[in-house]
Amino acid sequence: MTAGLADIAGEPAVTPDGHSISLTVNTGLAAEIERALEVGCAGVGLHRTEFPFMVSPRFPGEDEQIERYREVLEAFAPLPVTLRTLDVGGDKPLPYFPSHDENPFLGWRGVRMTLDHPEIFLTQLRAMLRASVGLDNLRVMFPMVSRVEEAERAAALLRRAHAELAEEGVLTAIPAIGAMVEVPAAVYQAESLARRLDFLSIGSNDLAQYLLAVDRNNSRVASIYDELHPAVLRAVASVGEVGQRLGKPVSLCGSMAGEPAIAPLLMAMGLESLSMSSGRILRVKRVIRTIPYSAAQALLEAVLACETPGEVRRLVNAEMDRYG
Ligand code: PEP
Ligand code: MG
Repeated sequence: MTAGLADIAGEPAVTPDGHSISLTVNTGLAAEIERALEVGCAGVGLHRTEFPFMVSPRFPGEDEQIERYREVLEAFAPLPVTLRTLDVGGDKPLPYFPSHDENPFLGWRGVRMTLDHPEIFLTQLRAMLRASVGLDNLRVMFPMVSRVEEAERAAALLRRAHAELAEEGVLTAIPAIGAMVEVPAAVYQAESLARRLDFLSIGSNDLAQYLLAVDRNNSRVASIYDELHPAVLRAVASVGEVGQRLGKPVSLCGSMAGEPAIAPLLMAMGLESLSMSSGRILRVKRVIRTIPYSAAQALLEAVLACETPGEVRRLVNAEMDRYG
């Protein structure tokens, strides 16, 4: 941890004019859990559950999954931990369950696959619920939602898993349920999703990829994969506005949450939490503690009037220079 930054590890993420935001971590591997606990955070905004599925020679069973989920839920309790249901396909293939998609990024990904296999989905949801017994800090989030019915069906399966467990005598609270907004269709249906769910979380890595039609892992087009593209910023701002209007929390868990120069803009868009890798938390916290909310709001207004990523970048960099 850089000296100076370490001093704010125990301090809240509050602007000089008193606006707070939750800074949470993204986890997946056990080592990430340890690192996150060291820097101090408000919980886990995204736990990617796919890693054990990717390194295993077959689908891990319910008990095996419980162990993994319990580890992270227990490590952060009583802070909230958002477990994302299996998000394979796209850039995360499962060797023992190939999708045979010609275009995996537009194919059988995330909740599309798990809804087609309720036995896989229910096993995971049961494992999450069983892992949370006695802790009650679980939140469940569904990836790659592009239709309202997907969110409804996934939430219904979660309630079914909960009812099954209750019949078996396993009692636990129904967790908060959310969807990732990472497909342009979900941006335009954010209001319908928010009315049906407890929270939304913007997956800006995929959202930028799909909005800009740029493969996020293709180095040839890397220079036009740009989170400061006005279309990306307007999409994020519109979801933030929906959350504020409906009183539903919206977070962002893609890599732009961990960019100190962008975080104040996201805060001004009304996002109530930003989730990032643990190595980013303190730098983002420092900028939040430095730039007043009123200045972030003025910056956002100017940024939303920009027509090119270059104009946005100039404004954002000038603001960073102003506050050192
Ligand atoms: C995202 O798409 O922004 C995201 C957080 O999910 P992943 O990077 O795991 O696809
Ligand atoms: Mg994603």
